[in-house]
Amino acid sequence: MSLVPVYESDSALGRFWQAVNAANLLASYCGSFHMIVLKPELSQTDVAWACSLLHELGHSTRALEEGRAGRPQSEGLSHQALDEEIEMHRLNQQLWHALGGRAYEQAIEKAIYWIDKQRRQTKSGVCTVTLPDFSAANESFLDPAPSEATRRHRQTEFATQAQFVAFDRWYPGRSRAFQADFLTRQYRPAWVGWRR
Ligand SMILES: [Zn+2]
Repeated sequence: MSLVPVYESDSALGRFWQAVNAANLLASYCGSFHMIVLKPELSQTDVAWACSLLHELGHSTRALEEGRAGRPQSEGLSHQALDEEIEMHRLNQQLWHALGGRAYEQAIEKAIYWIDKQRRQTKSGVCTVTLPDFSAANESFLDPAPSEATRRHRQTEFATQAQFVAFDRWYPGRSRAFQADFLTRQYRPAWVGWRR
């Protein structure tokens, strides 16, 4: 497997690289080339790089196990791709929980309070929630965010984790379908381009 640094200026190389740069990600696994692209220009802490790379290594391991590595990937958000993404966000959640302990649990509870409040207001049960800024809570166990892009990336990851925990709580035995739906809404705009 290769590890490929991508810089802002690489967008000039074509649509694939533009899509990588446009995505709110530190790193991403690309199955067709069996490579992880990462953005070294994003100022990020070692802990966050480690969590992100473990997430992407999880994708590459699954691709290897299933014989997909280095071969053309199915386009779009397949059931399999969503299932894999859910697994990787659960891995992130376990890592953040291990790092944050009680502080992480308290932040998640506050986030679920907000999600539930907005869910009741919309009566939809569908997550289009914008959480308040949880930077302070996250920085108590992830170190200060060194840039605005880092802060946004963390906020997105944290919101996903909180939503997953909420679905587990509200829809026991059925939460995976809700998680898949949530990820579909989150990823669809940027999916084609950086997954293939
Ligand atoms: Zn992923």
